[in-house]
Amino acid sequence: MTDKQNPLLDLSGLPRFSDISPADVEPAIDTILADNRSQIEKLITSGRAFAWDNFIQPLEDMGERLSRVWSPVSHLHSVRDSETLRKAYNRCLPKLSVYETELAQDERLYRAYKQIAQSDEYGKLSMAQRKIIDNELRDFRLAGAELNELDKARFKEIEQELSQLTTRFDENLLDATDAWTHLIVDEKDVAGLPPTALAIAKQEAVEKDQQGWLFTLQAPSYMAFMTYADNRDLRQQMYRAYVTRASDQSDNKKLDNSEVIRDILRLRREQAHLLGFDNYAEYSLATKMAESVDQIMDFLGDLAKRSRPIAEKEIAELEDCARKRDGLDKLESWDVMYYAEKLQQERYTFSQEDARPFFPIEAVLAGMFKVVHRLYGLLIQPETDVDVWHPDVRFYKIKDDSGVVRGQFYTDLYARKHKRGGAWMDECVQRMRTTKGVQVPVAYLTCNFTPPVGETPSLLTHDEVITLFHEFGHGLHHMLTQIDYVGVSGINGVAWDAVELPSQFMENWCWEQEAVGLFARHYQSGEPLPSELFGKMRAARNFHSALQMVRQLEFAVFDLRLHSEFDPDGRQQIHDVLDKVRRDIAVMIPPAYNRFQHSFSHIFAGGYAAGYYSYKWAEVLSADAFSKFEENGIFDRKTGAEFMQKILEQGGAREPMELFIDFRGRKPRIDALLRHSGLSQ
Ligand code: ZN
Repeated sequence: MTDKQNPLLDLSGLPRFSDISPADVEPAIDTILADNRSQIEKLITSGRAFAWDNFIQPLEDMGERLSRVWSPVSHLHSVRDSETLRKAYNRCLPKLSVYETELAQDERLYRAYKQIAQSDEYGKLSMAQRKIIDNELRDFRLAGAELNELDKARFKEIEQELSQLTTRFDENLLDATDAWTHLIVDEKDVAGLPPTALAIAKQEAVEKDQQGWLFTLQAPSYMAFMTYADNRDLRQQMYRAYVTRASDQSDNKKLDNSEVIRDILRLRREQAHLLGFDNYAEYSLATKMAESVDQIMDFLGDLAKRSRPIAEKEIAELEDCARKRDGLDKLESWDVMYYAEKLQQERYTFSQEDARPFFPIEAVLAGMFKVVHRLYGLLIQPETDVDVWHPDVRFYKIKDDSGVVRGQFYTDLYARKHKRGGAWMDECVQRMRTTKGVQVPVAYLTCNFTPPVGETPSLLTHDEVITLFHEFGHGLHHMLTQIDYVGVSGINGVAWDAVELPSQFMENWCWEQEAVGLFARHYQSGEPLPSELFGKMRAARNFHSALQMVRQLEFAVFDLRLHSEFDPDGRQQIHDVLDKVRRDIAVMIPPAYNRFQHSFSHIFAGGYAAGYYSYKWAEVLSADAFSKFEENGIFDRKTGAEFMQKILEQGGAREPMELFIDFRGRKPRIDALLRHSGLSQ
C-alpha cells in the first residue's frame, strides 16, 4: 500500500483524524478491496499446499487491514456525522457487504480451509489457530458457501440490502431524534427540574439564539425532563415525541421506520430459510452460547415468573404514591419515571441528583483506573499530542507493572449533536503478533453524558458511573487480550451472548463502598461521598429492580418472537407481537401510539437480532463471576489475576463455558444474579 496521500490508508500509527475527509473514504475502500481481491486470487491459485502460514495468516492480515481502514470511518459516522460523510459511508456499505459475502461464499477458500482442517498441520496449531479454523468452517456454511449458485447470489443480495436497511434504520432514528426540540419560555413550566438539567437546556437555547430552555430527545435532556418536570402535560408531549420517533405515529413521515423493519425481518427470514433453518432465531443461535430458542424462552420465562409478582407490587406502590401526592387516578407511562423518583426520594430520602456533585467525571475516571490498578496491577495514564476528532476527546495508555503497554484508548464522553446516542466500546486497532512484534490494541470508548456547563465540570449520576464502568469492561476485554491471532483476539470470536460478561462484571464495583470511596469526592469542597448517602444508594439499588427486569424481559421475548414466530408477510402486525408480549410480561401497558420498536436499534441496527436476551444471559455469568470476589474480597489480587488470565486475556480462543468453568471451578449458577437483583426468595 503506497497511497500515503490518503490518510485512511496510512496504517503506520493511530488514525489521522484531522486529515480524514469524507472524500477519502470511497477511494480508500476501493483500493483495499481491489488489493485484497488480487492477493486472494494469488493465494488460491498459487499451486502450493495450503497451510496456516501461506494461506490463513495472509487472509487474517488482509481482513485486519480492511477493518483498520474502515474503523475510523464507521466511528466518525457514529460520533461526528455529516451529510457528506454519510453519503460516502453509505456508498461503501454495499461494496463491503459484497466483498464479505463473496469471500464467505467462495468455495475455493472453503475447500482450502477444509484441507487445512484435515491436514496433519491442524493438530500442531495452537488452540487459538484451531478455533479460528473451526469458526471459519462454521461461518462459511452460515454464509451460504454450500448453496447452489442461484441461492448464493440471492444470499449475497440479501446481505447487501440488509446492511443498507439497518443503516437507514439508525439514520432515521438519529434524524428523528435531532429533529424534535421543545422550547420553554415560562419559568413555571420547568418547575421541578434540577439545576444541571436547566443549565444544559439553557445552553441548548443559547446555541440556537433562543431565549428560555430548549429540551431535546437526546438522553440526558429527555431523561431529566421525564424524571423531574412537574408539568404533566409537557411530560406527556415529550413522552409522545420520544416513543413515536421514526414511526408512523410521528408527524415526520419521511423518517418512518415501519417498512424498514418489515423488510429487515422479511430478508432475515429468507436468509435463514436459504440455509435450511426454520427461522432467523435458529440461524442466530448457531454462533451463540445458548443452545436453542426453547432453552432461552425457559430461562426468560423463569425470570419473568420470579420478577412479575414483585413488579406488580412495585407498580401498585407507585400508583399509590401518585394518588397520595397529586390525586392521580391513573398512572400513565409519562408518570412512571417522575413518581419513581419521588417515591425513591421519599423512601430512601435521597435523589439521584444528590450524588451527582460527588461524581465529577475526571475523578470518576481516575477512580475507575485505580480500581483496575488494584485488581490487575495495571497503570493507566493520559497521553496528549494525539490526533483526535473532537476537542472533548482524550487518549490513554494502559501499562502493566513491568511497563509493557497493553492497550490504548480514546474517550469521547459527552452528548452532542450528530453523535449517535447511547454508550459503546468499539475497536480501533486489534491485537495480533506481526513480524515486528505485538500490535497493541486500541479502543474507542463512547458515552453520551451531560457535558460540562461553564465552570461546572461534567457531573455524573450513579447510573452514568455504572455505564462508564460497563463500557470500560468491554474495553478491557478488547485491550488486555494476550491472543496473537486477530480472529479470536479480544472480543473477536466471542459468542455474542457471552460478550457482556466482562462489561457487566465491572459494574459491580460501583456498588462497593471500598471502590466508590476511592473516587467519589464533591467537585467543589472535595468532601468524600458521605457514607450515609452511599448507604441509601445501596439500599435503593433494588428499588424497582423487578420493574426493570420485566422491561428487559419484554424486549428480549419480543425480539425472540419476532425472529422465530412472526410472519412478516402475514396479517399479524409487528405491533401485535409486542402487544402480546406486553400482555404476558409487562405490568404497565403503554399507550397505543407507543412505537418502541421503531427505535429498537439493538435488534434492527446493532448486532442483537435474536440476541437481546444476551444481556440477561451474560448477567448470570457476570454476577456469578463477581460472587467469587465477594467470597475472596473485592480487591483480592489473586482472584483479579485469575479473572484477567482466564477470562479477559483469552478472547474468543475457547468456548465461553469452558473459560467460565476454568475461572469459577464450576458451571454458572443463577443464584448470584437473583441475589443482586433482590429476587431471591
Ligand atoms: Zn455492553
